[in-house]
Amino acid sequence: MAARDPYQVLGVARDASADELKSAYRKLARKYHPDVNPNDATAEEKFKEIGAAYAVLSDPERRERFDRFGTTDDQAGGGGAGDFFGGGQAGGAGFGDLFDMFFGNQTQGGGGRRRSGRDGEDVRADVEINYTEVLSGTSKTVRVDRMATCTGCKGSGGEGGKPPQTCATCKGSGAVSRVQNTFIGQVRTQTVCPTCSGEGVVISDACKVCRGKRVVKDSSEVKVDIPAGVEDGQMMHMPGRGSDGIGAGRAGDLYVVISVESDERFERRGQELFTIAEITFAQAALGDHIKIEGIDDEYPLEIPAGTQPGTPMKVKNAGLPPLHGGRRGDLHVQIDVEIPTKLTEAEAKLIRELAELRGEKAPRGEERGGGILGGFFGKFK
Ligand SMILES: [Zn+2]
Ligand SMILES: [Zn+2]
Repeated sequence: MAARDPYQVLGVARDASADELKSAYRKLARKYHPDVNPNDATAEEKFKEIGAAYAVLSDPERRERFDRFGTTDDQAGGGGAGDFFGGGQAGGAGFGDLFDMFFGNQTQGGGGRRRSGRDGEDVRADVEINYTEVLSGTSKTVRVDRMATCTGCKGSGGEGGKPPQTCATCKGSGAVSRVQNTFIGQVRTQTVCPTCSGEGVVISDACKVCRGKRVVKDSSEVKVDIPAGVEDGQMMHMPGRGSDGIGAGRAGDLYVVISVESDERFERRGQELFTIAEITFAQAALGDHIKIEGIDDEYPLEIPAGTQPGTPMKVKNAGLPPLHGGRRGDLHVQIDVEIPTKLTEAEAKLIRELAELRGEKAPRGEERGGGILGGFFGKFK
C-alpha cells in the first residue's frame, strides 16, 4: 500500500500541534473503527491508514523525517531479531495497537461478549549511551511517565475500592445495537455504548484519588539492560511495562528508544568505525609505528615508508560488536599527511635541498607569489 501524505490522511495542517493531531486521529479512528463499521472493508482500510498516519506524525523523529524527505518509509534496523526494531516502525503495525488505547482490546464479531476494561497505552522513554557503552553493553535507569493503577481504589474506581457496577444501558457488553429499516430490509448497526463509553461498567461513587478514572499519573524509574552493539534509534520493547490497563485490560508496552551519542573522532557505519590519523611528512616518507586511539584502547599501526595521503588502513577487531554477539568490526583509518604551514628559513632551506637532491625543479616559493600551491604547480612546469 503506497502511503499517502499522513497530514492529508488526518486532515490536519502541516504545523498541527500534538494535541490537534491526537484529536484529529481520535475523531477519525472512532468514525472508521471496525466495531462501528462491521464488515466494511473500505472503513477498515481507512482505519488502518489513519493509524499508520498517526504513528508517523505522533513520533517527532518520524514526523521530522517525513517533513524533510517526504517519505514514511523506514529502513529496517540492523540485527533485527529479538526485541529490537529499527528507528521507527513500519506503518500502523508499530507502536503497539494504537487503536486499542481508545477502544479496549475488543475482538470484533466475537458474539457480543466483550472483556470489561481497556488496555493501557504504550509508553516511550528515551535514553542516550556512548560508544563505550555500545561496545560493552550497559544498564541504564530511565524515567518512565505512565498511568498506574490507582492505589486509592486498587483500580476499581469506586470510593474505598467499591467495585464498579454493570452498565444498565448495554448490560455490560459495552455496545448498543440499533435496528434500522431501510429499502434493503432491516440493518443492525452496533455502536459504542454512550453511557459507559464502551467499558461495560459505571461507577456511581467515584474514588477521590483518581476521580473514578481507576488509574493515576505515575513517574517511576525503570532499569533497562542495553545489550552491546545497539545502533542509534533502535528501540527496546518491554512488554507490559507501559501504562497499566483498566479492569481486565492488559498493560501497555514500554519502548525505550536508544540514541547513541556521536563522537567526533569516529564515524560509525554498523559495526565499522572510521577515523583519520594525521602523520607528518617525515613519518609518511620514512615509515613509523604509531598508535591509533580506538574506543576502548590505543591500537598500534604500522606506517610503511612512502605512505601516501589518503591511504586507507585498518585495525582489525577494533570496531563495534554486532547486536547479538560475535566478532567486532574493524577500525578503518585514513591517513592524512600534515604539510607544515610555517617554516623557518633553515627548514625551508632543507626542503629546497631535498628537492634539489631528488632532481626536482626548485619550487619558486612564496616570494614569487606562489605559496604552497605555487610550488606544487611549479614542479610540473
Ligand atoms: Zn482510585
Ligand atoms: Zn454501557
